[in-house]
Amino acid sequence: MRPDTLNPLFAESDTLEGVGPKLRKPLNKLGLTRIRDVAYHLPDRFVQRRAIADLDEGVVGEQVVVALTPFEHRASPNQRAPHRVLAHDAKGNVCALVYFGKAAFTARKLFPPGEVRWVAGRLEQYDQWLQIVHPEHVADTSAGLLGHLIEPVYPLAEGLTQPKLADFVHQALARLPELPEWIEPGLLDRHGWPGWRDALVLAHRGEHQAARDRLAYDELFANALALMLVRADNRRRRGQPLAGDGRLRDTLALPFPLTGAQRRAIGEIEGDLTQTAPMLRLLQGDVGSGKTVVALEAMLVAVEAGAQAAMLAPTELLARQHFDTLQRFAAPTGVRIALLTGRDKGRVREAILMDLLNGTIDILVGTHAIFQDSVAYRNLALVVIDEQHRFGVGQRLLLTQKGKVTPHCLAMTATPIPRTLTLAQYGEMYVSRLDELPPGRQAIDTRVVALDRLSEVIDGLARHLDGGQQAYWVCPMVRGEHEDDDLAAAETRFATLRARFGDQVELVHGQLRAEQKDAAMERFAAGDARLLVATTVIEVGVDVPNATLMVVEQAERFGLAQLHQLRGRVGRGSEKSVCLLLRGEALSEVGRQRLALLRETQDGFRLAEADLELRGGGELLGTRQSGDTPFRLAELEQIQRLLPIAHDDARLLVERDGGLTGPRGEAARLLLYLFERDWGVQLLRGG
Ligand code: ADP
Ligand code: MG
Repeated sequence: MRPDTLNPLFAESDTLEGVGPKLRKPLNKLGLTRIRDVAYHLPDRFVQRRAIADLDEGVVGEQVVVALTPFEHRASPNQRAPHRVLAHDAKGNVCALVYFGKAAFTARKLFPPGEVRWVAGRLEQYDQWLQIVHPEHVADTSAGLLGHLIEPVYPLAEGLTQPKLADFVHQALARLPELPEWIEPGLLDRHGWPGWRDALVLAHRGEHQAARDRLAYDELFANALALMLVRADNRRRRGQPLAGDGRLRDTLALPFPLTGAQRRAIGEIEGDLTQTAPMLRLLQGDVGSGKTVVALEAMLVAVEAGAQAAMLAPTELLARQHFDTLQRFAAPTGVRIALLTGRDKGRVREAILMDLLNGTIDILVGTHAIFQDSVAYRNLALVVIDEQHRFGVGQRLLLTQKGKVTPHCLAMTATPIPRTLTLAQYGEMYVSRLDELPPGRQAIDTRVVALDRLSEVIDGLARHLDGGQQAYWVCPMVRGEHEDDDLAAAETRFATLRARFGDQVELVHGQLRAEQKDAAMERFAAGDARLLVATTVIEVGVDVPNATLMVVEQAERFGLAQLHQLRGRVGRGSEKSVCLLLRGEALSEVGRQRLALLRETQDGFRLAEADLELRGGGELLGTRQSGDTPFRLAELEQIQRLLPIAHDDARLLVERDGGLTGPRGEAARLLLYLFERDWGVQLLRGG
């Protein structure tokens, strides 16, 4: 339960004065659903204004505050021309205040001729005229404006204005409770950081690096602490030491020798499994690096030791595919593998549950359905989680807590994240890296093509399909607001392609029913369908070796990691593969560089590092789609600079006060709630 002190922060943002149903929408769009979010909605930048006594003092292009007296209104002669208010300063210099469109009405009200007004805005020159277009503030006394010569500029959404948002922030800041300090005093001193509440207020008031750093540090510390608690909790738990005798693994019929990296990873996992402490290991390997076989070997160790293993996939599609692969490879071993997804109901499900409980099933593959309360295992000793990044850490914890004995946990991810971010994402998890691809993989020919060459691309696609090969066509699915448009885009593209290529074209997207999706995928995997139009549901794991062409539409809308994953769907067989990145017209410089990077390299880790550097160039983390850092506040540079400190500090705190019961521990609990890392707190109680 969240401590009461924090209640004001978690009140809905429509409790702010002036927020009704209409403004609720743009606020939600910005993620500002609670008072806390509004208070943490930090400005992108600040405008700095200078108060000048008269226009002679002003510099063209500068933001100024100046007293002006209007003397004439020149109404707009037509729709396009602006309304001009002519005004003079104390010395008689003339300046035009320019208003376009409907704002002309406001202008008449704001500037009664002959009355002095204080005006804030950007001084410009138009022909020989000085002018200010749409002054940002107009006041009849100097008081308000001269007090705000520095003004925050907030990220906006349609329907909101800067003054409105500034007002909401102001209200939110007024509601901040006084909270005890969770940062170690020495650290605060060393960096000259303000206290929490002051930091928030200062960060809205001006460029205040120390305040921003402190706030970012809070977030990093909250994350590090929560992960540290997971680690500590895991150390306290008892796992089941698993020593396999190799009898099942020896009979495996793999059609290929394992790579060195695979053997190394398996060795590391085997080592962990013999321990009493439950394993907490991350298997990181680029798309196609062969993680599935490593998982199979690990699960066979559990079965050899007389226990059960479970493998969790993020989608039904992947669960089914894993099930097929595992069955194929493990057939000679006689191990019993079952599939359980949310689709299995009634008697089928009952039968599986029964066999799970009596131990007839050795390995269960499925979606999160395999960890529902009603699912009981006879002796579950190992959990493999595929595409770990799709599951929250919290969810992972719930999984591993089933039963008196904690199962070992192997998490797998194909998202190659840079080393600095590994710490942020996974804390002190042990990591095995598959840094070597199976032999014989061909480089994928990657090209960036302008979208206006679509018809050529489709002709090329026709030749490709005629040649007997298969292809993917991916349309963007950006998280959040555009989902409907994107779906429409995929459906429209599907319609045009189907008109040309007939029923060898299939469509999959997240809003189809699971059966429809699977049916389409199965037709594609079997080669009956030759072209698969899809949103990013095919992003992870799908394996069809005969598919050798990948077309990604509006590639600039995808994160680099995501594009890399998509590209990894081809190049899986012996044929040469091609990836075409179709770019829209409005491509930013960073966007262009990113696509160029993809063309240059196929090494996921190199891509991740390079992407990180590109982003150092000022793009905000919050705007990216790949979701590769768990932070909303801390920017990349701050993560790199402050995370190691946060990490050490968190370790120290947990070593000294593992139950978080001391004064600083209590404060740190508040912090965990503040950043919604309270699964960390839950562990304290559970342990
Ligand atoms: P990941 O899950 O890491 O993306 P997969 O486990 O799906 O990769 O493996 C990709 C493909 O490579 C599969 O077709 C798999 O059978 C094959 N593969 C795995 N290991 C090897 C190996 N050592 N040599 C050759 N092919 C392999
Ligand atoms: Mg995989």
